[in-house]
Amino acid sequence: MRGLMQDYPLTLQHLLWRMERLFARKEIVSRTEQDVHRYTYGDLVERVNRLAMALHRLGVREGDRVATLAWNDYRHLELYYAVPCMGAVLHTLNLRLFPDQLEFTIRDAEDGVVVVDRTLIPVLERVADRIPSVRTIVVIDGDGPLPERIRGEVHDYERLLAAEEPRYPWPRLDENTAAAMCYTSGTTGNPKGVVYSHRSQFLHAMCVLQADSMGLSERDAVLPVVPMFHANCWGVPYAAGMAGSKVIFPGRFLGDAQVLVDLAEQEGATVMAGVPTIWINVLQILERTGRRLPRVRSVLCGGSAIPRGLMEGMDRVGLRMIHAWGMTETSPVGSFAQVRSWTPPERELEVRLKQGAAAPGVEIRIADLATGEELPWDGVAFGEIQCRGPWIAAAYNRNADPDRFTEDGWLRTGDVATIDPDGYLAIVDRTKDVIKSGGEWISSVELEGAIMAHPKVLEAAVIGLQHPTWQERPVAYVVPKPEFKGQVTAEEIQGFLADKVARWWLPDEIRFIDELPKTSTMKFDKKALRATAEPLAAARSAS
Ligand code: AMP
Repeated sequence: MRGLMQDYPLTLQHLLWRMERLFARKEIVSRTEQDVHRYTYGDLVERVNRLAMALHRLGVREGDRVATLAWNDYRHLELYYAVPCMGAVLHTLNLRLFPDQLEFTIRDAEDGVVVVDRTLIPVLERVADRIPSVRTIVVIDGDGPLPERIRGEVHDYERLLAAEEPRYPWPRLDENTAAAMCYTSGTTGNPKGVVYSHRSQFLHAMCVLQADSMGLSERDAVLPVVPMFHANCWGVPYAAGMAGSKVIFPGRFLGDAQVLVDLAEQEGATVMAGVPTIWINVLQILERTGRRLPRVRSVLCGGSAIPRGLMEGMDRVGLRMIHAWGMTETSPVGSFAQVRSWTPPERELEVRLKQGAAAPGVEIRIADLATGEELPWDGVAFGEIQCRGPWIAAAYNRNADPDRFTEDGWLRTGDVATIDPDGYLAIVDRTKDVIKSGGEWISSVELEGAIMAHPKVLEAAVIGLQHPTWQERPVAYVVPKPEFKGQVTAEEIQGFLADKVARWWLPDEIRFIDELPKTSTMKFDKKALRATAEPLAAARSAS
């Protein structure tokens, strides 16, 4: 017997309807160069209609790819809605990719239109003569001279919108239509395209709203400190639209902790989201100045493991971090580390430092690294995380790297973790970063967390370097807090670690540096560290 329910398509057009009918008065605030720009969801929907009219006039049709090279602001949000809702596909370009990779992603996606912020034109110019599919450029903040080296038609975003009526005849879309695409950050090989559908984004947004996930509601003011090109800005733009939350965009100031603190305070942020490096810097300011952000009820954090010292520090200043795990391929929400009703208070911190339990809709298992067999949830056995669910990729664009998907329909994530009897993941490492010493594994993530708990340390990254006897040994790159520069020694760090990790885990060398290289999504760039690392002293003397 079939169910007798309506086959209502789960598309992002439903969100447009909610924003217009239920939340027209709610605010969207964007930090500009000098000030803030402020308007409402009502204004947003009107401009989304004009934008769709303009894109249609420029020749954009269902299935066409429209790329963006833009900061976190209201114009980017307009594109997030107009492009998918007209049946086209939004491709958010990663503005920090190397030119070769940027070129690769534009060609792989076959972008026809690129909407670029004026300040980012130099990024596009670097690849301008190598992207033949692009025939139209739309410039945001287009006043001033137009790009010289860029071929094709060039239009000004505001002028396009002003010339149109706010009445787009939205087509009826199948819920499995492609809505958006993001490329993995490509730490090895070329980036791979993940193509999200309307259905996957709709269900993902509903998941983000759940109380045991991010719990976003109409009463929240959310400040996403995640680039809008990174895994759909963690789903915040659509989840906020569905819930009617106020949104606060930091413009191009994502890396400026002072701006973030000011903006959160002035605009009454209640939820913030971003990778650990952002919060390391925010915490520094709060501790130094004594300022606090009492209205913020949670700071969602993922992208890399939250070091214990950071979570403790944030607790001290009244900011509760919620640890989450995910990746571009998982839209990105995979798990949340909310504390269970049965967790005793003395174990809470330990639980919150794990990467959490599978979000509703996502199934997770771990598989033995050698045999691929499923492993028990005993908190000890570690293997590769595999997952499946309605917002997990089933394949990459053009079927790239098919081995990342198992025959029985699971995504191989490349992350190594244990799962405890309560179902909480604890990431041990990336398969590529775990250090193999004398046939045993050392978790670079755990060592980093232990080093960053040292009161004089700001950041630390650990990599494995070749060793003549042990195959690989850990080396730690450590950035002291500015006030302790030159005042912390390798012996001090080793002594600090002595009762925190096994003796054979102690790094062979501690190397102090001024700054760690970061990836395009603000994570420690271990690939760059490895590429430029001096060999171990033991390896040098052996050769
Ligand atoms: P991306 O696709 O750029 O978002 O990167 C996803 C990767 O970031 C995952 O495969 C993990 O290796 C890492 N990651 C994400 N969240 C966490 C977390 N909470 N703890 C540790 N690593 C994480």
